[in-house]
Amino acid sequence: MSNLTISKFGGSSVKNAEAMRRCSQILSKRPESRVVIISATYNTTNELEEMAGLSLKQIGDAKNHLDKLFDRHLDLAKSLNCSNDSLSMINELKLEASELIVKMNSEGHYSPEVMDQVYSLGERLSSTIFSSFLSNELKSKVIYFDIRKVLHTDSSFTRAIPNIEKIKLSTLEHLVPLIEDNNIIVTQGFVGCSLDGKTTTLGREGSDYSATLLGEALNATQVNIWTDVPGIATADPKKMISAKFVKEMNFEEASVLAKNGAKVLFPDTLEPIKRSNSTVFVGSSLNPELGGTLINSKVEPSRMVGMASEFNRVTISGTDMSTHKEKILEFIESYNPNILASNHNELTLEFSDQQVEVAFRLLHGFLFEE
Ligand code: ASP
Ligand code: MG
Repeated sequence: MSNLTISKFGGSSVKNAEAMRRCSQILSKRPESRVVIISATYNTTNELEEMAGLSLKQIGDAKNHLDKLFDRHLDLAKSLNCSNDSLSMINELKLEASELIVKMNSEGHYSPEVMDQVYSLGERLSSTIFSSFLSNELKSKVIYFDIRKVLHTDSSFTRAIPNIEKIKLSTLEHLVPLIEDNNIIVTQGFVGCSLDGKTTTLGREGSDYSATLLGEALNATQVNIWTDVPGIATADPKKMISAKFVKEMNFEEASVLAKNGAKVLFPDTLEPIKRSNSTVFVGSSLNPELGGTLINSKVEPSRMVGMASEFNRVTISGTDMSTHKEKILEFIESYNPNILASNHNELTLEFSDQQVEVAFRLLHGFLFEE
């Protein structure tokens, strides 16, 4: 569809009423963003995992856990003036969750198949709340859409593989008419449906992938991934104050970075975007005015893309490291690091425990700060 963009909001972007309000403001300024994909609210997926664990040990504890989780969502819904219909939907989801607890408890274990039903509750809750809230905020009609109608996968529960062709066909049948009717669609990330109709999930943190899969199926011009950092940086901005956010990168650079440290995107996220040759934007829903990173095929490669550190190892990644290796080693000659890996895309160096922090900072300065 022409001039259509998708917006995906991660768990931290929808963590409370204030955060959801920011998402709605972002959408009201971007009327072309007509499909909205939501993660479970912050930490909810982890809590659902804990609840499943508790249901095997102490059913009472599991139920208390469930009460707290649902109370929090009901409070959120009420503080956003969500409709009575959406409050009833939340109560129905709670019933479903209670039944799952009883099932897991009586069977004494939970299979990946049951876990996917448990996981799906997080995204179904957050999208119920957000769709109702958004319809108060926007002039257009907002529709809650169950992604299981279109996001077909195989039956590898908890890490299901999408069926691209079926996703395209179902999207055309079920989603395109709703969008053409000028509705805004709010749906769930992470969740899918097996060919025999069972709930699946794409793997933890998989909502980014849901967004680009839908982007491909709808032929969207851009997929916006809203998170808590303004884009992809040369190093983890939480560890490295002088990390630089990269304004633009191509697919190869983004894939190299995604593998080597910058865990901003779920690993398979870029595949659908490459196939459909569109663009991903990664930005912060906290500070949308800061801009973010654009990823597409048009960007000239810069060869050097980022760094990560873990324990006493430092990895420098790029799309052609061979040209830089000598210069890098010369620069840090006095540290005498061990070379743990050296190939086209990465150089991994091991320093002594005392030196690693300083070496990381020095190298970052040398490579990325003019
Ligand atoms: N809610 C899921 C998770 O926390 C999926 C996602 O947020 O991407 O893993
Ligand atoms: Mg996430």
